[in-house]
Amino acid sequence: MVTSTVTAGVPNGGVSFWYTQVGLPAPSPPLPGDRDCDVCIVGGGLTGLWTAYYLAMASPGLRIIVLEAEFAGYGASGRNGGWLSAELAGSRRAYATGPHGQAGVDRLAAELRATVDEVIGVCGRYGIDAEIVRNGVVYVARSPAQLERLKAEAEPGGGGRALTAAETRERIAVAGALGGWYDPDCARVQPAKLVRGLARVVGGLGVTVYEQTRVTALGPGRARTPHGTVRATYILRCLEGYTAGLAGHRRSWLPMNSAIVVTEPLGAERWAAIGWANSELLGDNAHAYCYAQRTADGRIALGGRGVPYRFGSRTDVDGITQRRTIESLRTTLARLFPAAADVPLAHAWCGVLGVPRDWCASVGLDPRTGLGWAGGYVGSGLTATNLAGRTLRDLVLGEPTDLVDLPWTNWRVRAWEPEPLRWLGVRGLYALYRHADRREDRGLPRTSRFGHLATTLAGR
Ligand SMILES: Cc1cc2nc3c(=O)[nH]c(=O)nc-3n(C[C@H](O)[C@H](O)[C@H](O)COP(=O)(O)OP(=O)(O)OC[C@H]3O[C@@H](n4cnc5c(N)ncnc54)[C@H](O)[C@@H]3O)c2cc1C
Repeated sequence: MVTSTVTAGVPNGGVSFWYTQVGLPAPSPPLPGDRDCDVCIVGGGLTGLWTAYYLAMASPGLRIIVLEAEFAGYGASGRNGGWLSAELAGSRRAYATGPHGQAGVDRLAAELRATVDEVIGVCGRYGIDAEIVRNGVVYVARSPAQLERLKAEAEPGGGGRALTAAETRERIAVAGALGGWYDPDCARVQPAKLVRGLARVVGGLGVTVYEQTRVTALGPGRARTPHGTVRATYILRCLEGYTAGLAGHRRSWLPMNSAIVVTEPLGAERWAAIGWANSELLGDNAHAYCYAQRTADGRIALGGRGVPYRFGSRTDVDGITQRRTIESLRTTLARLFPAAADVPLAHAWCGVLGVPRDWCASVGLDPRTGLGWAGGYVGSGLTATNLAGRTLRDLVLGEPTDLVDLPWTNWRVRAWEPEPLRWLGVRGLYALYRHADRREDRGLPRTSRFGHLATTLAGR
C-alpha cells in the first residue's frame, strides 16, 4: 500500500506525480521460494532493467531474475525530473586522474551523448511512449557568478553553445536571466512511462521480475530474501540510492535526497509570457541548483535538493517530502517564473539518488566472485543507467568491448565516514552552498572563500 498525504495544501508522496498520470502498478507476486539462475539482478530501476534488457537481447537463453523490493520503477527511476541528458555522472577532474586520463573522460562523455539516442531508439522500437521531446537543455545564469561558472564548466566539443541574455529569454523567459548555455543532447521524458515501458519489454524477453521481494543480504553466488534465496553465477547490485539499506553497504553510497513540485497546467496567457515553446529542459547554475521541465500537458515540474540527507542514510516513505522543501521549491518557481507564481501546485514528492564519496559513478564486476554493481550517478542517472546496463552486459559475457574500457569501469571509491560525521559533513556542505548562493544572489563576487569551497566540494 503506497502512502500519500497533503502538505501545505499540496498532494504529497504517492511515489511521484508521474504515477498519478499512468496509475500505480499492481506489483507482481514475490519470489515463490528458492530459485537458480545465471544472472540475478538486485533492484528493478533503470539500471537493473537496462542490464536485463541488454543481457536478454545478447544471450536469449540466459536465465535472468530481477528482485525488486516494491515494484519496478518505485525508486528514482520513476520519480526523476525527466532530463535524459548527456551530463557526465561524476567529476571530469577525478576520472582524468585515473589510468585512462583525459582521453578516457572524453570517450565517456561521447558515449553518454550517443546514449541519449540509444534510449530514444529502444523506446521507438518497442512503442514506449514516454512523451520524449529531444530539444536540448538550457542552463541559465541569474547572477554574474553563475555566468562565470557556466562558461568555465562548458564542455568542449560537446556541440553546445553560449546564449546571450536575450537568446536565453527568447527560449525560456526566466526572470533575471543574464545568459545561458544550450546543449542539444538532452531530451524530456515522462519517467514513469519510460521505466514501466521498459519493465514491460524486459518481461516480454523472458526475464523474470519478482516484485515485493526485498533482498536482505547478498554474497558470491546468492541473494537472500525473506521469501527464499536466489542462487546465480552473477549477482548484480543495482540499488543506487538504496544501497545503504543493504547489509555491509551502509557507507558505500550516500542516499542524497532530491524533491520536485509540479504545477497545475498553465493557461495559454501564462505560456505566452514564459515562452518555452520547444520544451527544452531547464537548469540553473546555483550551487544548490534546480532543474525543470515543461510537461507534455503544460505544467512546470521543478526540482531541487530540499533537505539533502537524512541521518543514518534513511530514505523517504513513498516520496513524501518535507513542508519546508515544498515551500522552498515554490519560492524558487515564483522567482524564476513570476507569471506562474500564483499557479497552484498539483503535487510534491522526493526520492534518493546515490552519491559516492568522490562523486564518481561506477560500474563493475569482480570475475572471481561474480559480484557486480552499477550506480552512484549523483543525479545524472537517466542516461547513464543505459550505458551502465550495456557495460554490465559486456562484463558478464566477458566481451572486451570499448565500453568495458571506459574510466568509470571498476572505478573504486572509499567509504563514507561513519555517523555522525557523514550527516554533519553533508549538512555543512549544503550550508556552504546556500551561503554561497545567497551571496551570489545579492550580486557579491564569487571570490567568496565559501563559494570556492562549495564548488570544489561539489566536484565541479
Ligand atoms: C527527485 C529526483 C530527480 C532526479 N532527476 C534526474 C534527472 O532529471 N535526470 C537524471 O539523469 N537523473 C535524475 N535523477 C537520478 C536518476 O533518477 C537515478 O540516477 C536513476 O533513476 C537511478 O536508477 P537505478 O535503477 O540505479 O536506481 P532506482 O531507480 O532508485 O532503483 C533502485 C530500485 O531498487 C529497489 N530496492 C531498494 N532496496 C532494495 C532491496 N534491498 N532489494 C531489492 N530491491 C531494492 C528500489 O525499490 C528501486 O526500485 C533524479 C533522482 C531523483 C531522486
